[in-house]
Amino acid sequence: MNTVITRFPPSPTGHLHVGGARTALFNWLYARHMHGRFVLRIEDTDTARSTDESVQAIFDALNWLGIDWDDGPYYQSRRLDIYREYLDKMIAADKAYYCTCSPEQIDEMRKKAMAAGEKPKYDGTCRNKGLSVTGHAAVRFKAPQSGTTVINDVIKGEISFQNDELDDFIIWRSDGMPTYNFVVVVDDITMGINTVIRGDDHVNNTPKQIQLYHALGADLPVFGHVPMVLGQDRTRLSKRHGAMAVTAYREMGYLPEALVNFLVRLGWSHGDQEFFTRKELIEYFTLENIGKSPGVFNQEKLLALNAEHIRNSTPQHLFPQLRPFLKARGLNGDDTLTPETEKLIEILSPRSKTLEELAENTRFFYEDTIQYEAKAARKFLKPVALEPLELVCRQLESLPDFEEKTLEDAFRAVMETSGLKLGKIAQPVRVALTGKTVSPGIFEVIALIGRSKTINRIQAAVDFIKRQPEKDTVR
Ligand code: GLU
Repeated sequence: MNTVITRFPPSPTGHLHVGGARTALFNWLYARHMHGRFVLRIEDTDTARSTDESVQAIFDALNWLGIDWDDGPYYQSRRLDIYREYLDKMIAADKAYYCTCSPEQIDEMRKKAMAAGEKPKYDGTCRNKGLSVTGHAAVRFKAPQSGTTVINDVIKGEISFQNDELDDFIIWRSDGMPTYNFVVVVDDITMGINTVIRGDDHVNNTPKQIQLYHALGADLPVFGHVPMVLGQDRTRLSKRHGAMAVTAYREMGYLPEALVNFLVRLGWSHGDQEFFTRKELIEYFTLENIGKSPGVFNQEKLLALNAEHIRNSTPQHLFPQLRPFLKARGLNGDDTLTPETEKLIEILSPRSKTLEELAENTRFFYEDTIQYEAKAARKFLKPVALEPLELVCRQLESLPDFEEKTLEDAFRAVMETSGLKLGKIAQPVRVALTGKTVSPGIFEVIALIGRSKTINRIQAAVDFIKRQPEKDTVR
């Protein structure tokens, strides 16, 4: 087979949303899997709705997701000469014609067709008039009037359209701008696109595009229409399902590889594997495994995948992405990864679902004063904890080092002296050091915080207990 060339042609009328990102991913992955090429094209002929900010937002989102392109970005707004050339060719070959019917006439035709129980379509008034350009004329495609147009869809199978149900659609508007179906075909032909994977909201455009390919004597690309993504209530995905701009997930602390993994699984599968690295996706991605039924957007699944990707990441990989979350909280302003922060990320990443949560979980390390969670303090910072806390403090003061093994021995000694179980000692210490009842392993935490901070914090907890009013100190 020739080199596979796929494309992603977003209209820059807003942010890149999850549906569009999935389409981009499918095309990108297929190109990468096949060692082909991936083209980026900005479909900005709708000048009223297209904005530079949207173009930038789309680049930003693609960059963040790690979707790179081999050709482009092309801008349709800068290719009008090419479209004009193809238009002239079509008119010269009698495949297209000028139409001077007014909007009122068209409206009249529609009404008539509908009254006769037919689909509204252009009645061919100007089809054989052989008009040459006159002022503000539109140009219509001379569509085949009988027979069928068939899409051999790699995902949906064969889809047939009766040509007499399609009409002589406009390819160039009277305002001087070409229409979507026409420019897409000219672009896809001139850019050598041979594989078109897009949302099935475009299925009804495809027969028109196929007819244009035939009229232009060009080979058809492979078409595949992917079912739309649905919300959990099985209606089309929208904002109320949490479907947002792709980059909103970055702000919420998602890793791009987790979102990529999640989006690709919305409509594509490889056995029952759920977790994929980017490398695996490229290795396994083929069109055969795109499903016929719509993927359902499940936020919990995305969150679980994100946790798994964070767990599988190294501190070196996570730190640059975590940095903005730390900075925003005033927790750490370092630009490079220090050994302490590396260790901190290592012990926290298995227990953080998002980078935001990971940043929150680092507070105990960076902040000097520990805020006790009310419930944790009530339960564990009580007079009964004074003895173990003070014993631990004394032990730690005299330890030769803060290796986990040494710390374990020290706690064992406190257990023996006090006759208390490990939990009764470790929990108050944990609250003293982190403010919470849940944290990484207590020895890891102590080793990480170091001697003087640990002792200061235990001392602060002892003072806190002693300050509590009498009524709360009942054992
Ligand atoms: N600009 C169109 C869109 O964003 C592209 C459709 C296509 O893939 O042909 O929906």
